[in-house]
Amino acid sequence: MKIPSVVAALLLTAFSAIAAGALPTATAPSPTFQATPNAVLSVLCYHNVDLLKPKDTPYSVTSSLLEQHILALQKAGFTFVSMEQVRKFYDSGLPLPAKAVLLTFDDGRYDVYVHAYPLLRSMGVPWAMFVYPSGINVGHDRNFMNWDDVRDLAAHGVAIGSHSWDHPYLTKPPANVVSAAEYSAWLDKELVSSKKTIEKEIGMQVYAFATPFGALDGVVQKRIVAAGYSLSFNVYGSGNDLKSDPLYLNRLIVVAKESPEALVKRLGEKPLHLAKQRPAPLSIVSGAFDRMEFALPELPELDRSTLKVIVNGEDAPFTVDAEGGITVKVALPERDKGYLVAVRAESKTGAIYSQSWYFVFRKEIPGYI
Ligand SMILES: [Zn+2]
Repeated sequence: MKIPSVVAALLLTAFSAIAAGALPTATAPSPTFQATPNAVLSVLCYHNVDLLKPKDTPYSVTSSLLEQHILALQKAGFTFVSMEQVRKFYDSGLPLPAKAVLLTFDDGRYDVYVHAYPLLRSMGVPWAMFVYPSGINVGHDRNFMNWDDVRDLAAHGVAIGSHSWDHPYLTKPPANVVSAAEYSAWLDKELVSSKKTIEKEIGMQVYAFATPFGALDGVVQKRIVAAGYSLSFNVYGSGNDLKSDPLYLNRLIVVAKESPEALVKRLGEKPLHLAKQRPAPLSIVSGAFDRMEFALPELPELDRSTLKVIVNGEDAPFTVDAEGGITVKVALPERDKGYLVAVRAESKTGAIYSQSWYFVFRKEIPGYI
């Protein structure tokens, strides 16, 4: 799988319980579809639509391109599903369409309210938005929605999720956070207070979280789970299925000018559930470190000769041992570094399987962990 370089760059930079039913959840109209428990769920992550104040961003799409993406995906047999349907898929096994897509927008930008909202409404496409309270209410002139806008979306079936309180790198607290207790309190504000504040503002349950910048490690991941979310999203690309962890779902960042054809191709990839990954996903590695290892799943249709490994956007050479274990040698990094390892292989019939995993190397483990 080709990882967009902006995503790899972003991940590299990243490193330098309300009782169920207590509040209502947004309900979007559900289209009729042929449902299956073997669905592949792709989650798209957009940011800006027709920037109100144009500037150079790798994430802004035009509303016309957004419309073309949706039409091309529908034509290729994909069905747009709501966050609520995704929750039910993982909570109670309620089937999804075979090729399901969840449309999400990060940050709560006013241009999305002005340009994407009417378009998606007229097309009948369900969607979700992740907001962070410190961004909301800074004003329309700084291109953020206010709470009235967010409430309007929620009242019209748009699922609202939390994107933290302040949109920081959750793996990297401010300098005044030095002890584990301070880090814990800081993470609480980002994960728990943001959820409660959004719930209070919209009067609905918030059960989904999207990690800012995809900056995750095992410490943060445990706190996301403890904060009471039932769905959580990264930005590590590739699709999901019923075997995927609902608190660690992959999203694909859509980049500016991505053609509808390229997007359809990216979403056609099936999840490849890797085994024996070392370092483990989201682990924090320190000290001696010179290789990554993994094994492919038992999947008879897989053509192992097509295997490709891409580390932070670059093709990486690898070796395969007699037991099928795959090793990628790496040089010890000179500084803290995040690793996004993407593995891709084709089936004998040409279907593409892919999976990515992320871990971090720290020269020294900070005192707050
Ligand atoms: Zn964001």
